[in-house]
Amino acid sequence: MAKAVDAFMKRVTARNPNEPEFHQAVKEVVESIWPVIEQNPKYQAANIPERIIEPERVILFRVPWVDDEGNVQVNKGYRIEMNSAIGPYKGGLRFHPSVNLGILKFLAFEQVFKNSLTTLPMGGGKGGSDFDPKGKSDGEVMRFCQSFMLELFRHVGPNTDVPAGDIGVGGREIGYLFGIYKRLRNEFTGVLTGKGINWGGSLIRPEATGYGAVYFAQEMLGTRKESFKGKTVAISGSGNVAQFATEKATELGAKVVTLSDSNGTVHDKDGIDKAKLAWVMELKNVRRGRIREYVEQYPTAEYMEGARPWSVKCDVAIPSATQNEISKEEAATLVKNGCVCVSEGANMPSEPGAIDVYLDKKILYGPGKAANAGGVATSGLEMSQNSMRISWPREEVDSRLQQIMKSIHEVCVRYGKEGDFIDYVKGANVGGFIKVADAMVDQGVV
Ligand code: NDP
Repeated sequence: MAKAVDAFMKRVTARNPNEPEFHQAVKEVVESIWPVIEQNPKYQAANIPERIIEPERVILFRVPWVDDEGNVQVNKGYRIEMNSAIGPYKGGLRFHPSVNLGILKFLAFEQVFKNSLTTLPMGGGKGGSDFDPKGKSDGEVMRFCQSFMLELFRHVGPNTDVPAGDIGVGGREIGYLFGIYKRLRNEFTGVLTGKGINWGGSLIRPEATGYGAVYFAQEMLGTRKESFKGKTVAISGSGNVAQFATEKATELGAKVVTLSDSNGTVHDKDGIDKAKLAWVMELKNVRRGRIREYVEQYPTAEYMEGARPWSVKCDVAIPSATQNEISKEEAATLVKNGCVCVSEGANMPSEPGAIDVYLDKKILYGPGKAANAGGVATSGLEMSQNSMRISWPREEVDSRLQQIMKSIHEVCVRYGKEGDFIDYVKGANVGGFIKVADAMVDQGVV
C-alpha cells in the first residue's frame, strides 16, 4: 500500500508543482482512505482518487482598487470550486498576504471532507486574495471587497457556491461583499454566510467554529471520562476562532492561559477570564491592535515576542491561528508537559511530524476537518434559515451545533476505532470520503 500511495503522491506533486500545502493535505487523506479504495472496486473503476483531488473549477482574477492616497493597487482574487457531489460549493474566503493557489487548494480539499462530515448537503470550495486588511482603512477594505465581488458575483449564488469568512474576512468584510452582490444582482439572497444578524445572519455563527472545537474536545475527553473542568488550556491566535474557543472553554470550567498573533504570545497564568476576553475582543475586533498590548492592560501576564504558545504547560491545546503552526518538536514539548488533547480550531495547524507524535503517544487528537467543522455546519444552518426566511433562536442553533459535533465525533469513532484507541485522523478522512465518493459514483463521470 505504501508503494501505491507513494506513486500516487509522485503524480500529484508532478501535476501540481509548487503547492506543498496541497500535497501535504492530499497525502494525509490518501494514506487514510487507500485501504477503503483497495476494498471497493467501484471507487477504482470510477477513478475516484484522481478525480477527487482535481478541482471542478479554479477561478483566478485581477482585483484592482484605489487606496486612500489615490494610488491604484492590484491583488489576485481566487475561488476554488473543488467538489459539488453532495451540494453547492461551500467554504470561506481568506484575505492574507500569504494566500496563493496551493494554500487555497489545500483548504478547498479539506473542506470537501469536512462538509461531508457535518451531515449537511454542502460541497467544498475556498477562495480569497493576497490582499492584507491589516493597517487598511475601512474605506480601503470596502473598495477592495467591492472590486473582488465585481468579478466573483458571476460565479457564486445561493444554489451554486456560498462563500463565508476565514482569516482576514470577518463581519465587516462579509457586509461589504454582501452589499455589492445585492446591488449587482438586485436580489436579497443567502449568497454568503456569516452575515450580520439584522440582514440574514444566524445567531451563533460567529461563535460556531471556536465553540465547536471545544465541543469536539469535550467529546474526545469524554471517551476518557474527563472534562474541561479544572483543565489548563493553551490557545493560539486571537481572532474569531481563538476568541470563542476561549469563551466556551472558560464557560466549561477551564483556565485559558495563552493567546497569540503573528508577532507573539501572551501567557496569563491567572487565566483569560470573561472580562479579559471582552477586552481582547475590543482590541482585536474594534481597535484592530496587537496582542502584545494585553500585558500593558494586565501586567501580571507575560508577553513572548516571536514565540508560539506551545512551550507553555497545558492539558488541552486548541491551535486556532493558521496552518503548520505546531512543529514535531513543539508537539513533543506539549506532550512532555502533560498535554492530553489537541483539538484543531485552525485548518492543518499541525505539521505531519507533530501528528506522528500525537498518534505515537496516543493522546486525543482531533484534526481540523472534524474539530473545526462547527463553523461551516452553522453556515449550513444559516443557509437553511435563509431558504425558509426564518431565524432560529440562539438556543436552537447552539443545540443543533452541539448535536452536529457529537455526530461528527461518532463518525470518527465508527471509522477510526482501533482497540481502545481512536484514530480521529483515519475516522474523519474515511467518514468524510465515503459519502462524497458514493455520490460521485452515482452521478457518473462528470
Ligand atoms: P482571524 O483572521 O479572525 O484570526 C486569525 C488569527 O491567527 C489572528 O490572531 C492572526 O494574527 C493569527 N495568524 C494568522 N496567520 C498567522 C500566521 N501566519 N502566523 C501566526 N499567526 C497567524 O481568522 P479565523 O479565526 O477565522 O481563522 C483562524 C483559523 O481557523 C484558520 O486556520 C482558519 O482557516 C480556521 N477556520 C476558521 C473558520 C471560521 O469560521 N472563521 C472555520 C474553520 C476553520 P495576526 O492578526 O497577526 O495576523
